[in-house]
Amino acid sequence: MFDNLTEKLTSVLKDLRGHGKLTEKNIDGALKEVRMALLEADVHYKVAKTFVGEIKERALGHEVMESLTPGQQVVKIVNDALADLMGESHEDLVLAGEKPVSVMLTGLQGSGKTTTAGKLALYLRKKGRKPFLVPADVYRPAAIDQLKKLASQLDVPVFDSEVGMDPVDICRSARAAAQQNGCDTLILDTAGRLHVDEELMAELVRIKSEVAPSDILLVADAMTGQDAVNIAKSFDGALDLGGVVLTKMDGDARGGAALSIKAVTGKPIKFIGTGEKSSALEPFHPDRMASRILG
Ligand code: GDP
Repeated sequence: MFDNLTEKLTSVLKDLRGHGKLTEKNIDGALKEVRMALLEADVHYKVAKTFVGEIKERALGHEVMESLTPGQQVVKIVNDALADLMGESHEDLVLAGEKPVSVMLTGLQGSGKTTTAGKLALYLRKKGRKPFLVPADVYRPAAIDQLKKLASQLDVPVFDSEVGMDPVDICRSARAAAQQNGCDTLILDTAGRLHVDEELMAELVRIKSEVAPSDILLVADAMTGQDAVNIAKSFDGALDLGGVVLTKMDGDARGGAALSIKAVTGKPIKFIGTGEKSSALEPFHPDRMASRILG
């Protein structure tokens, strides 16, 4: 995760730390390299530009602590700016409303939606909730089987969806089934496509208006970099997302999506997927992630 960026940033910041006193020229040189490192990490170019502008302003504005040396001050400024870029603090799932509530998962095929549905069921159960999994991807027969199998492995009740059923009907009927099973949180695994298309969006909008989910998450693949950011923009435009789950962070050495999504869409990353196992889900904490990036 962020391997290359960490290497580049620590090297730039190490150089700065070597100076007793920092001039605007020192800072400008370092920031140029920070910007290059961000672009190489596939951070959106506008985000990278705003980011270095912000650091410069803070560095020259002495928004710093007197106990630190100039080099350390810049490290702190970069750390804080990285955290701000990704959001202020962890934003959890919204589960407000009359029970049972629904969490709607959306995303393209292969993004990790079904896997994330299982991960979230486990996460919610650990928090004392009673999750109910709902396979609503009726176009890919394997998707329904995959979620039913996962549910049985995790011992989580699952709606008995069948290929050919209407996904809106599934989501509507699943509510009563969840209640019968004594469950309080439905996790809707909606259909994905290979790319964003109007039909997919129209179906998701219908499900949203029928079910009124308490939270709507986009599941996006971190390894696709700026594509994930553009997908987040499209889905947010149609559905007004509550947040994003960024999957496959374990395989993403660059980190561009993680660093750009909040700045570009205004929507927080709520969780990251860090592996294929059902336990490989982490609540996303911008401040901890910033420290992780700086090594
Ligand atoms: P869906 O089509 O969106 O439902 O995607 P799936 O849940 O079937 O996932 C597609 C592939 O990505 C599967 O092989 C998953 O095991 C894998 N996958 C999902 N999330 C992660 C993750 O966080 N890390 C890794 N390494 N693989 C993941």
